[in-house]
Amino acid sequence: MDAGLDALLQSRLTALSDANRLRRLRPWHWQQGSLHDADGRALIDASSNDYLGLSQHPLVKARAAKWAERHGAGAPASRLVTGTRDITLAVEERLADFKRCEAALLFSTGFQANATVIPALAKVPGGAPKVVQSKQSAGAGEAAIFSDALNHASIVHGCRLARTGTQVFRHNDLDHLDQLLGQTQGRKLIVTESVFSMDGDRADLPALVQLAERHGAALYVDEAHATGVLGPQGRGLAAECGGVDVVMGTLGKAFGAFGAYIAGSRALIDYLVNRCPGFIYTTALPPAVLGAVDAALDLVPGMDEERARLAQNSQRLRDALTRLNYDTLRSSTQIVPAVIGSEADALAAAQRLEDAGVLTVAIRPPTVAEGTSRLRLTLHSNLDEAGMQRLLDAVAASLPPRPKA
Ligand SMILES: *Cc1c(COP(=O)(O)O)cnc(C)c1O
Repeated sequence: MDAGLDALLQSRLTALSDANRLRRLRPWHWQQGSLHDADGRALIDASSNDYLGLSQHPLVKARAAKWAERHGAGAPASRLVTGTRDITLAVEERLADFKRCEAALLFSTGFQANATVIPALAKVPGGAPKVVQSKQSAGAGEAAIFSDALNHASIVHGCRLARTGTQVFRHNDLDHLDQLLGQTQGRKLIVTESVFSMDGDRADLPALVQLAERHGAALYVDEAHATGVLGPQGRGLAAECGGVDVVMGTLGKAFGAFGAYIAGSRALIDYLVNRCPGFIYTTALPPAVLGAVDAALDLVPGMDEERARLAQNSQRLRDALTRLNYDTLRSSTQIVPAVIGSEADALAAAQRLEDAGVLTVAIRPPTVAEGTSRLRLTLHSNLDEAGMQRLLDAVAASLPPRPKA
């Protein structure tokens, strides 16, 4: 035992605590579809990513149970061994269809997909034009990566793991991206989210598709927060505009299940099956998860009414916060930030809201930039009008109006 390790870790934890950045795990219960804290107190959930309430939907839960019963609790091997079943392939085919792509591939989590697919695509041997692959030309197939400044930590990990050189462009600043692309030779990969997880704003995908085409770059789009919520029948923003080479999304948010997918061309998927370590060297998703995803695929396209209510309630919340002079940044989705400033003030605001019956989490550095600690409020389509009113009342009672900027 190295007593020095714990001492070192403890000193870091103390420093985090002093900076109001220490995080703690809290247990939550779901009873009859609503959120309860450890003392059994019911709260309005304004922080989970279960945007359509599907994690508690009877059909989703029933199919998860049914497929576990029929196929087993686990899929005890990796996909290329015996982890692939007919249901795995069927769900992938349905996902490809849902995303209006040729093919799709399941991944264990969104973090894993981004962390492993980005490097796999950034380093494709033989990628440079007309170069015969040899020891000397090793690296010729590498793509320079262009990553939005607000991209998720899993994308940042993927870029780091690729080690092909990542240029970070200012958030949603396509002029900056254009300039960086123009200064770079060789293969290029642009990576963005379609809905940004902390600001709730959107990337301009049609403009990005054009820019990528003009510079001969491939475009990778993370649809974690758009899948199920935005685009035609909730198919995401990439389905709306087309022209995206690699579409990534998660199944643990609006789909209410677990896992992630990559969708794109047949060649892309076949390549990842052969060359993506985070797909090859990990255990396949269990049948219960596949069942939940399958049921979500039945439900999501028909939930336009729920999506409309979600959009409308998000706008009502933004309007309420704006009236109190809180900056909601450029949010145009179900993710609504309210910028507070310091870590301590954001924590205090979250506590006041919780005391008023609304659970929201204070988001602090390093997740967001210094001085922009915030409340990140998320809305859910299953919040009824009475619940929405309680949420707005709690916001008004807990967040004092800020001086006009
Ligand atoms: C949540 C999230 C992920 C990670 O997905 P998991 O399935 O939770 O690992 C990746 N990208 C973005 C933008 C996310 O918000």
